[in-house]
Amino acid sequence: MKMSEEKVFWFLVGSQELYGEEALKKVQSNAQTIVDTLNKEGSFPFKIQLKDELAISQDIITSVMKEANYKDEVQGVITWMHTFSPAKMWIRGTKILQKPLLHFVTQFNNHIPWETIDMDYMNLHQSAHGDREYGYINERLNKNNEVIVGHWQEKEIQEQIGRWMNVAYAYNESFNIKVARFGDNMRNVAVTEGDKIEAQIQLGWTVDYFGIGDLTTVINKVSNNEIEHLFEQYKELYDFDYGKYEVDEWESSVKEQIKYEIGIKQFLDEGGYTAFTTNFEDLYGMEQLPGLAVQRLNEQGYGFAGEGDWKTAALDRLLKVMSHNKQTGFMEDYTYEMRTGQEAILGSHMLEVDPTLAETKPKVVVNPLGIGGKNDPARLVFDGKAGEGVVVSISDMGTNFRMLINEVESFVPEEEAPNLPVARVIWKVKPDFKNGIKEWIKQGGGHHTVISLSLTKDQVITLATLFNLEYVLIN
Ligand code: MN
Repeated sequence: MKMSEEKVFWFLVGSQELYGEEALKKVQSNAQTIVDTLNKEGSFPFKIQLKDELAISQDIITSVMKEANYKDEVQGVITWMHTFSPAKMWIRGTKILQKPLLHFVTQFNNHIPWETIDMDYMNLHQSAHGDREYGYINERLNKNNEVIVGHWQEKEIQEQIGRWMNVAYAYNESFNIKVARFGDNMRNVAVTEGDKIEAQIQLGWTVDYFGIGDLTTVINKVSNNEIEHLFEQYKELYDFDYGKYEVDEWESSVKEQIKYEIGIKQFLDEGGYTAFTTNFEDLYGMEQLPGLAVQRLNEQGYGFAGEGDWKTAALDRLLKVMSHNKQTGFMEDYTYEMRTGQEAILGSHMLEVDPTLAETKPKVVVNPLGIGGKNDPARLVFDGKAGEGVVVSISDMGTNFRMLINEVESFVPEEEAPNLPVARVIWKVKPDFKNGIKEWIKQGGGHHTVISLSLTKDQVITLATLFNLEYVLIN
């Protein structure tokens, strides 16, 4: 997917001058050991860089945080209290830090050496003391920072850090998200509307409208050569299902979508857009609703939602960034399975189900749409993967945005669905069907969501907290 260049996290070690040069040298070398080991063993998505200077004065801390703010490659600051570090000197720098902050509650040694421990050892290894002084000021400053507790050599702790890094990266990337709306919201629909200015203030999203003519101008310039070239690639990637169509007719429908794929991608890239919406009511000058085209762009990491739903399109991009585009995409709650013991929700959409969710090799299918009065559109059809995950939506409640997070378990259905011409994902909601759905509806959760089978609820909560976003967890 389209990801930004190399990003890093800074590692800043708290201490103070009182301990003398010898002790501070030891602090620095222990920190170097931790950072080197984490980079080597942590299998992190991004590198950690140790700051050369220890955080032992207000001037140093303030200057590090200023630098962290303006350097685009820095995605967040990880702090560690090796010793006691008086927190008044942290106030100025912590207040101005605009990047995510992780207070890593760890200690160089994982044990107390009872045979040899003396006051020198205690003064050097007093993370328990330093963590409380430092943590107090973060809470008092409402930093919404993450706290991870555990020894730095534990695998589970390293994995927690890695997951937090992806949240921090997504948070920063949120301020770069630009949504192109091709057409307006679907007429009469409520939950897809919202306050775009507030979304930009709180979440950093730029949401721009374009008339469909702006897009068709670009689409109509796509050459036959480009289309044929991509069609050849499709042969490698997908199964072709001609259904009731003549091959010529089928191919021309698929190639129409290829033209859209190339045109939309060009339009988005030229304007710096990483997410987009379409609306089946707003297709003047287009022969089909983009289906296959949208799915192909989802596969490349562009966020999307149907019916002009810009909130879900931006959320889709945001969660795709956070998951590195693994098993994450736009979804719509469609149909219930209500038999006792088998309760589940079938999720899908008219066409645009994200292929990153596919368990089976997608097949290209052409079928009538049933609404919209356009030509039969091509789409990718597959069964969704099984796994634990989250379904997330954002609703505009008039006074604020509310994020809903439902833990779900997706499974591969045993039954074939030979007449279903769209991709399907089916999941069980937590804590159970009746209570999970009732809570979702009572809290005003939308029918458009983003489902992810690779993100955890904790990651989504950490993200919501960074944005000061009201959230409801249903599990
Ligand atoms: Mn929809």
